[in-house]
Amino acid sequence: MAKKSQGSGLVCAMCGTIDSEANPVVEIMPGLALCSDCVDYIETTANAELAQRKSGRADKKKGRNSIPKPKEIKEFLDQYIIGQDEAKKYMAVAVYNHYKRIQRLDEGKQDAEDVDIEKSNVILVGPTGTGKTLLAKTIAKLLDVPFTIVDATVLTEAGYVGEDIESLLTRLLQACDYDVKKAERGIVFIDEIDKIARKSDNPSITRDVSGEGVQQGLLKLLEGSTVLVPPNGGRKHPEQKMIAVDTKNILFVCGGAFDGIERKIAARLNTHTVGYGQNSSDAKKKRDNLMRYVMPQDLKSFGLIPEIIGRLPVLTALDPLDRDALRRILTEPKNAITRQYKKLFEMDGVELEFTDEALDTIVDKAIEYKLGARGLRSIVETVMVDAMYEVPSSKKKKFEVTAPYVLEKLSQNPGLNQA
Ligand code: ADP
Repeated sequence: MAKKSQGSGLVCAMCGTIDSEANPVVEIMPGLALCSDCVDYIETTANAELAQRKSGRADKKKGRNSIPKPKEIKEFLDQYIIGQDEAKKYMAVAVYNHYKRIQRLDEGKQDAEDVDIEKSNVILVGPTGTGKTLLAKTIAKLLDVPFTIVDATVLTEAGYVGEDIESLLTRLLQACDYDVKKAERGIVFIDEIDKIARKSDNPSITRDVSGEGVQQGLLKLLEGSTVLVPPNGGRKHPEQKMIAVDTKNILFVCGGAFDGIERKIAARLNTHTVGYGQNSSDAKKKRDNLMRYVMPQDLKSFGLIPEIIGRLPVLTALDPLDRDALRRILTEPKNAITRQYKKLFEMDGVELEFTDEALDTIVDKAIEYKLGARGLRSIVETVMVDAMYEVPSSKKKKFEVTAPYVLEKLSQNPGLNQA
């Protein structure tokens, strides 16, 4: 029997989560219960592993190196991420060049006169929930390199409450069982980089513990140097044995929403366009999605120090997700949430269908609740929990989710729109 929690809910065998509306745990087979997050994780990882093996085999056949080409990287990303073509392209090129550079170093091709290819760390700018983390995560899966996500907001300058900057490499080490060589080729995704921006554009004499000090510390890692990492993270302390990690070949991808940066971009564009007789339709286009025009100087106006910006040479923006994109996210990606539910029902011999109107209603609610792509999952989970509970013990062979059914289930859970 799968392990039961105190109540009637099941417990996920992988992560120990107890069955809840937000993360339902289902019995996949007798004695094995998994939560939907872990099912999602297994599916994505397995697909990536298969794709990786396939591309590895193809490469061996062709007798070439095993780094996927930028177009192949983009095609892989397309399977999981809707839209964001520009960002995918930039990421694919940056990652490809990064691994080519490492390969050259491995092959010892670099001599004194040779061109020194510099690392291209990436910065992704775009509203929250538009796929920045997903992009970095999916790339790491394709390449089969250690990957970790760290939140810039927990980092503080040495000597203050919070985590030492070096501790962000602890997670990377943990992701590859402390294999330092592997970690030194990994990818670190630093989320919420905008939160360590200096509070004003002018350097101030007052201490800025969580801002400029952290940026200075981060700079050392981005530039590439050997740093001493506390094996268990957190604060360093004198008795602790440290692990030396060279960050020269670690690819750093930073992400941030940069709320309000549009104003800086608009201000810059206006100063540049005065007197050039720009027509109004151009101006309107720019107003609609100013983020697309982000330049390094806007990051500086926002409060990132120029040295950091210089170490993040690949700058690209992600588009806000419109209704059409949200609708596609529900059904199209390889591990789209509705596909996952179909699979779960199929395992019980039940065919699950969502009507078009039902999908439209789910999207409407995600927009209404201002939950974006992240909200799609919580909405679908709320809608499906009763069916997940009832259907396996019924004789039903088909279950259809309609728009009225979606509305009925959501009305029984008024808490969702306060999320
Ligand atoms: P952020 O931009 O804040 O890092 P995430 O990448 O964490 O956003 O996105 C949150 C979730 O929303 C993802 O796990 C994914 O399920 C969904 N999502 C967001 N953007 C996309 C997208 N462009 N394509 C497919 N799913 C997406």
